[in-house]
Amino acid sequence: MSTETLNSTKNYGYQFGFIDEYAKKEIRRSLLKAVAIPGYQVPYASREMPMARGFGTGGLQITLSLVGAGDTLKVIDQGSDNSVNAVNIRKFVTQTCPGVNLTKKTVEASIIQTRHRIPEIPLKKGQILVLQVPYPDPLIVVEANEEKRKIMHGERDYARLWVKLYEDMVKFKEITISHRYPTCVNHHYVIDPSPIPRFDVPKLNNSPVLHLFGAGREKKIYAIPPYTQTAPLTFLDIGFRVEDFIDEKGNRRACSRCGSTDSFLDELQHKTGEKIYQCSDSDYCRYAEGKRQKD
Ligand SMILES: [Zn+2]
Repeated sequence: MSTETLNSTKNYGYQFGFIDEYAKKEIRRSLLKAVAIPGYQVPYASREMPMARGFGTGGLQITLSLVGAGDTLKVIDQGSDNSVNAVNIRKFVTQTCPGVNLTKKTVEASIIQTRHRIPEIPLKKGQILVLQVPYPDPLIVVEANEEKRKIMHGERDYARLWVKLYEDMVKFKEITISHRYPTCVNHHYVIDPSPIPRFDVPKLNNSPVLHLFGAGREKKIYAIPPYTQTAPLTFLDIGFRVEDFIDEKGNRRACSRCGSTDSFLDELQHKTGEKIYQCSDSDYCRYAEGKRQKD
């Protein structure tokens, strides 16, 4: 679908961006605070949205507070522009934000709202990545009381989180966290980077783009400003490892569509019953496939 056919010219009777201007202002103020204190979870008054909490209301509220006529928005869910969550959020933006361009191409977007992935194509300075977050606090696995967690964050007391990682090492010989890998931002706060795979965690470090995280149900916003150092929590003697997609013969698996051997792959079942692998990032896969056909 071309950019033009995705755009709306119809007026559905909503005010621009659905949320009222005071609410947008409050969200933007919280975003500024989040940028000023990288990794700190800023509480905000999460609004009711016409979708259930847990379906990206936090990310959507950030997007709607930032987007303006002339912006180009891309929405992805698990890397794909065509999965249900992405399609519905895009439809909602079409109805409430006239003048906002919608795209499926990573390179064209000024704002990218995403669930569970960071795009494969390296993001550029000036772009904003908005991540939908189910659980904002990485300490929730070791401390149930929010007040105590706040003190632990303030004192940079992550000892119990380290113990949890150590227990993983003792039990399984490696850290078993596949998603939501605890990541230290700017040498202080440890964040939950949302359920992105380990594969995407290194992309956060020193990235030229602004990363904004919105947890609607938990009413928290946090940020990683551009060019900020981030580091996944790891032990000195056991390095951080991303998914390697190595097959039984020791070769890197390739995408069955575009042939790429450097992207994050989804495991799918072919109609014949055999397992096949495909890029999770649909835009990257299209781009790589086009490039392969040209060569
Ligand atoms: Zn591919």
